Amino acid sequence: MKPSRFQYVRPQSIPEAVMALQRHNSKVLAGGQSLTPLLSMRLASPDVLVDINGLTELSGIELRGSELWIGAIARHQEVLTHVLVQTHVPLIQQALAYVAHPVIRNRGTSVGSIAHADPAGELTAVAALLGARIHVSAQQGPREILAADFFVGPLESSLQHGELVTGVSFPVLDATWGSSCQEVARRHGDYALAGVCALVQVLDGQIMAARIAIFSVAGTPLVIDVIDVHEDHEKLNLKVQALIDPDTDIHATADYRRQLVKTLVVQALTEARVHAELRQS
Ligand SMILES: Cc1cc2nc3c(=O)[nH]c(=O)nc-3n(C[C@H](O)[C@H](O)[C@H](O)COP(=O)(O)OP(=O)(O)OC[C@H]3O[C@@H](n4cnc5c(N)ncnc54)[C@H](O)[C@@H]3O)c2cc1C
Repeated sequence: MKPSRFQYVRPQSIPEAVMALQRHNSKVLAGGQSLTPLLSMRLASPDVLVDINGLTELSGIELRGSELWIGAIARHQEVLTHVLVQTHVPLIQQALAYVAHPVIRNRGTSVGSIAHADPAGELTAVAALLGARIHVSAQQGPREILAADFFVGPLESSLQHGELVTGVSFPVLDATWGSSCQEVARRHGDYALAGVCALVQVLDGQIMAARIAIFSVAGTPLVIDVIDVHEDHEKLNLKVQALIDPDTDIHATADYRRQLVKTLVVQALTEARVHAELRQS
């Protein structure tokens, strides 16, 4: 199928982009790796496509105070190889290693992935787990949305019509924190059947904090504090299983997804602990 007819706009500034987005049934075009298939299948039929790729003020990855800022047109590949990301928020790269294939990563944007709010997206889980802030430009002025308030359902965010995400900022993790992302997909680069990101804080050999985000098993990533149960795998599994309700689909049964989560939670927490110890050594 071909996309239905739309008007293509390529603004030269953020205010111009926001102005164009006020038009009825408009959509932002970033890397187009999720949107163009939807257009081709006519699952999305916007009247206006606002291409933000010419807005150089939306590019870049930089440290801003105690946060790492990723601009809205930074490509997955740039984020995956950027030294600031590796040093300050390694979880982003640990997760991106599972995202799609090189051709898609060369074009797709990490911020677009978050804006798309795919429950199977690795970066939605990372943003939720880290408590990232989503920066938005709107006609009424800029605003920020906490990741916890941003993801409201499958492919549904709290972004309002006419709003543009300009970038996402992630809290920097000092060396007491270790992280890990673990998932199982049918083929490398496919969306996960189930996945888990973990953050563990280790001080003087003691675990001080342990948190996980489970993705691909619900409409939004599920963030769970597991410091109270991290040492007891049975209790850990009971706590996690009580909070998830995965679906059966053509790729996997709900039971299989539950088994995956059980294993991946332990793997991710163990790897995150080792990662913290390595960062401190
Ligand atoms: C074969 C294949 C495999 C893939 N595998 C994975 C995978 O394993 N994991 C994964 O996470 N992703 C995967 N993806 C998706 C890929 O990561 C996309 O790049 C990403 O989801 C969207 O980024 P984009 O820049 O291409 O956004 P686009 O496709 O341009 O946009 C996606 C949606 O987000 C909105 N949007 C984008 N940017 C903004 C913004 N700045 N402000 C407001 N709205 C915005 C658009 O309007 C649109 O609704 C895969 C894609 C393909 C084609």
